[in-house]
Amino acid sequence: MLDFKSSLTYLIKKDLKELCSIDSSKNSIEGIAQVQSLYRDRLSKLGMISKLVKGEGDSGVDSDDLQLLICSSQTNHERTISFICHADTVLAPFEVKLEEGKLYGSGVADNKGGALLGVMALEKCYFELSKKFNINFIVSPSEETGSHGFHGIFKEIGSMSHIVLGLEPALSSGELVDSRNGNLWVEIELEGKSGHSGRLDNDYLNAAQVQIEVYQDIQKTLSKFEETTIQITGMSTHNDSYNRVASHSKMSLDIRFNCHKSHSEIMNYFDNLSADSFSKSKIKSKPITIKTKYVDACPPMEKKKDLKFKSLTHTTFKKSGGAADINYFSHESNLCIDGLGPCGFNLHRKDEYIHLNDFTYRLQNLIELLDELSMSDDYKETL
Ligand SMILES: [Zn+2]
Repeated sequence: MLDFKSSLTYLIKKDLKELCSIDSSKNSIEGIAQVQSLYRDRLSKLGMISKLVKGEGDSGVDSDDLQLLICSSQTNHERTISFICHADTVLAPFEVKLEEGKLYGSGVADNKGGALLGVMALEKCYFELSKKFNINFIVSPSEETGSHGFHGIFKEIGSMSHIVLGLEPALSSGELVDSRNGNLWVEIELEGKSGHSGRLDNDYLNAAQVQIEVYQDIQKTLSKFEETTIQITGMSTHNDSYNRVASHSKMSLDIRFNCHKSHSEIMNYFDNLSADSFSKSKIKSKPITIKTKYVDACPPMEKKKDLKFKSLTHTTFKKSGGAADINYFSHESNLCIDGLGPCGFNLHRKDEYIHLNDFTYRLQNLIELLDELSMSDDYKETL
């Protein structure tokens, strides 16, 4: 007869094999929906009610049929916990195999392992946890391509959530993720007036020259924020002649920051950016103009003070550079923890794998955390 641990491992292996055999790579609409329905069916057995939501606004080409799965406990408590994971993978399925305790498969770590782990933890803890918290389990159909069209819904659910648990893989060095940078991709476009560069009278408005002044001001302003970086990712003018000044100039910037306060102050700076403070030479009839466009604005997942959970005493945390869906749920007064899925190796490659033992270890850890949340109010000190 199988003991408990080996029968659990057998079930995990069976479920992951099934999940990793489904093609849920980018725009494989049917496969993505199939993966979502496997989670939905299990969560509905717990009493969770599900809905599929279409993306809003410009959700990108070919993604109109991709829908966000939201499963919710129909409870009405003061506090809410939301889980976030995704159904899509970067690669189409490749052979799912188990070798020396390692399970290989497309998305086995990112994010089918994590999502399954979240479902299994809820199967164990839902009854007690839902006596105290409203619970949401959210499955994005398109995280790997940015979950476009769903950021507004993430933000809305985040604003109602006190705790957000991200099921992305733990870092390959084992840590959970306690913070992620936010980023702002901003395009700054200046329009001036061209003229002969040998005749520097008032009849020209050099947009490229002013662009440099603007950049210097941005650098100076941003240097006041801790752990904030700025990179110029593009620069162009429409000018290709040496003896004419550029009437047009465009610059794209990638700015990264680690807290909500920096995020709102940086946005505020760009919202109020005007040519008046830069343009040295102005023609009254046609002053230089600055247009600012946010191409992407992702909030940071901010690190909270020391976590008070007993179940996390032996857990180590690290910041992860890249943004993820969980960033959009984060706000100043909620707690976000990501990387609760099994440790993932070689993500987005044809040799992506997890250790099956690590899956059971992390499942146990998540169960302990949810048990602690069900039983104690100590978590409130962290918020
Ligand atoms: Zn992922």
